[in-house]
Amino acid sequence: MKLKEYTIKGMTAYMHLLRDTFDLVRLVAPESCHVLELGKGDRILFAPGGHCFDCWNRTDRCDNCTSSRALTTGERLEKVVMFAGVPYSVHSVPVCLRLDEDTAMDCVLELVSVHDAPIPVTFAHSDRQENLVQETADQALSRDAITGLDNWDRFCQRLRDLLELDPATPRVLISADINKFSLVNELFGLDKGNEILSRIGKIFRAHMEAGSLSTRRNADNFLICMPEEKYDAGLANGIAAEVNRLMASPFYSIHMQMGIYRMTDLNLPIPVMCDRANLAIRQIKGQSTRVACEFKENMLQAQLHEQKVLTAFQDNRDGHHFRIYLQPQTDAAGRLLGAEALVRWVRADGTILPPDSFIGILEESGSIAELDRRVWRAAASLLHDWQGLYEEDFAISVNVSPRDFFYMDVHQTLCGIVNDYRIDPGRLHVEIVESFLIDDQARCLDIVHRLHDDGFTIEIDDFGKGYSSLSYIQEMNADCLKVDKDFLRSTADRDKSRIILQSIIAMAHELGMACIAEGVETADQVAMLTQMGYKAFQGYYFSRPMPVDDFYADWLQKDRA
Ligand code: C2E
Ligand code: CA
Ligand code: CA
Repeated sequence: MKLKEYTIKGMTAYMHLLRDTFDLVRLVAPESCHVLELGKGDRILFAPGGHCFDCWNRTDRCDNCTSSRALTTGERLEKVVMFAGVPYSVHSVPVCLRLDEDTAMDCVLELVSVHDAPIPVTFAHSDRQENLVQETADQALSRDAITGLDNWDRFCQRLRDLLELDPATPRVLISADINKFSLVNELFGLDKGNEILSRIGKIFRAHMEAGSLSTRRNADNFLICMPEEKYDAGLANGIAAEVNRLMASPFYSIHMQMGIYRMTDLNLPIPVMCDRANLAIRQIKGQSTRVACEFKENMLQAQLHEQKVLTAFQDNRDGHHFRIYLQPQTDAAGRLLGAEALVRWVRADGTILPPDSFIGILEESGSIAELDRRVWRAAASLLHDWQGLYEEDFAISVNVSPRDFFYMDVHQTLCGIVNDYRIDPGRLHVEIVESFLIDDQARCLDIVHRLHDDGFTIEIDDFGKGYSSLSYIQEMNADCLKVDKDFLRSTADRDKSRIILQSIIAMAHELGMACIAEGVETADQVAMLTQMGYKAFQGYYFSRPMPVDDFYADWLQKDRA
């Protein structure tokens, strides 16, 4: 391949220019391992005592010399060299130096920079202006225009080189993501948003130690790879604190969170390693006090499970994957009072999964509203079909997820359902956990009040669990407390649990509210609760949740017999 030609004068000028950009710029003759000097009067000299391997503290020729290969192939080559624990990139550009009309010499221009230096320019023939244009264009192609960090392609390429060259150094890959960054653009405009990103780029550069690489992958996602020994939790907290200061607002919580992947499997493609770091971030999304989270293998299993749930839910056209089970609610003698509708995921192989393994995922993805709507319809349809089979006061309780209030008009949906099936709303009990009030209290309370006014029975589910607040009972206008099963479970402090169970029923009586004890498993518990004044029970002692057909056969038919 014909190499680009330069006059000695032209090359001297280029090298001068390039020294602004690279840490070391030199010409070498790879066959004899000599550094060349360009002398005055168009002469080329061997630098006195100058072997090109000297600068790497070697005493003999480098293995598999890249500059030598660049000369034989006629192609520009790049490699990363570890020297004193620091990675250097070396670009070998084969060139032809023309001495006069008849004499020319092929040699290699070596451009050496530490890890974070700009990439080399492409050489034009002799026009300095053209070179500068080319240099700018090359940089634009490999750098992120807003932050000046490597762009994603360049980052991947350099990281791959680094891992090949030095697989032994343990490294971490940190992915940093700003939650709600779009708010910054929305509130302050795009220019301010870009300015903040640029300043974040500076913060990242300032924290980069030797051997680190960083990039902005997209919008507000930054990545750093660094030797593990340079990383500690303090570093993540420090970076996040500086970044968060840039976006501090009294009204919005905009903050940076980081996922950390310790690069144990170097065969993984770099985007997959980044996915792992991002998966770690997902574990702490929404927890504004948590800055960083480390990737663990079990997160992959959880993600796989999540995908399966969402796919099964989307594919649920025939409605067979998610089915309701009914668990009887009875009096102390086991006489049927009602039932709670509890959803189950029935998989293609016949295995049945409990709601705890998928409700959270559907809540996160927003699909919970769709599921709950189906469960409510199924319950209303049963009440309609079974009219005449049950006692006047038989009811089916349905669960309402706190997320339902965001994704649908709960009041309108429930009213629509009881209308469609022409059932008394008092037969459809609505179970709500207190945490539904965490956001937008006034709106949610208004919905519950309207449901109550329209004749629905409102039950506070899992009462006593978490942050129970007595003021909610008053505000919610609820009809019934479903006492959390943990009070019966707790073996640690039976006496305290007993006092609480006793106080709850006394308070419910005073307030004229009904009470159901959940999770009743033994005759002793029934006796104890009955003695306290409890009249309604739900638990394995009376029956486990069961398929609708079994409930019909075992409870409705039997009850009539
Ligand atoms: P939950 O509303 O508190 O439902 C009662 C849970 O206690 C049920 O678990 C039931 O099987 C279990 N249970 C009943 N008796 C006993 C007992 O004697 N001992 C013990 N240890 N457990 C008992 P399940 O069916 O696994 O449901 C778990 C949770 O999933 C429910 O808790 C509810 O929060 C949620 N869930 C179930 N179905 C739905 C639904 O259709 N929509 C929504 N949003 N959430 C649902
Ligand atoms: Ca419930
Ligand atoms: Ca409950």
